[in-house]
Amino acid sequence: MTTRIPLIAGNWKMYKNVSESVQTADRLKELAGGVTGVEVMIAPTFPALFPVSKALQGSLISVGAQNMHWEKEGAYTGEISAAMLVAAGCRYVIIGHSERREYFGESDETVNEKIAAAVQTQLIPIMCIGESEKQREAGETFSVLDKQLKMGLKGLFADALQNLVIAYEPIWAIGTGKTATSEQAQEVHLFLRSKLTEMQGESLAKGIRILYGGSVKPQNIAELMAMPDIDGALVGGASLDAETFSKIVHYQSK
Ligand code: PEP
Repeated sequence: MTTRIPLIAGNWKMYKNVSESVQTADRLKELAGGVTGVEVMIAPTFPALFPVSKALQGSLISVGAQNMHWEKEGAYTGEISAAMLVAAGCRYVIIGHSERREYFGESDETVNEKIAAAVQTQLIPIMCIGESEKQREAGETFSVLDKQLKMGLKGLFADALQNLVIAYEPIWAIGTGKTATSEQAQEVHLFLRSKLTEMQGESLAKGIRILYGGSVKPQNIAELMAMPDIDGALVGGASLDAETFSKIVHYQSK
């Protein structure tokens, strides 16, 4: 039987300067630094990556970036490469977040390039996919997700994708306080796992962690995590406060 270690990941977006980030990381280390049976990751802003990874040394909490470029280096003002993220202490990178797709022109093609570059550098990609409210209402949820999944992983196969993480984030649930019900999320996660099985084979698909993201809080995490295909959460707003995020991380002890 494949066991998927749950991953609870915090996306700090464009919040917290370096000292605020280190302060929150220090507190999280006290509250959740030794937690076992669940992996924990936080994704601060670029300038805070290295200091936060230093602050978290000696704990089990990993650091991730919120974005990257697919080239190794070059004249790409404002960008950062996978190797630079690894050197700054990152283990994970969030790719294709809906805010990047909406405000910064991220497409399934750039997501694909970034995932290929991340896995080549041993950085674990968390590939975000999700439908808008309009697409859900039009009954397009599954076709939208199918396309995002296929295009995002185009040309990439089992060996490269051993550690891949998918985050299903319905756009209508991000930062809105609206959460997909655990049944709605499970239905989509099961669909994604069956598509991954078709694309990559059963043994890889069984091991891929599929996170849910969208207004996850201490109050709804246990119910979501009780679903068989929900393997963790990508948490925005509720990850900014160490106490609140720690309650999410400790969902099993509630
Ligand atoms: C996110 O940004 O990935 C997210 C899920 O945000 P929130 O938890 O605030 O809805």
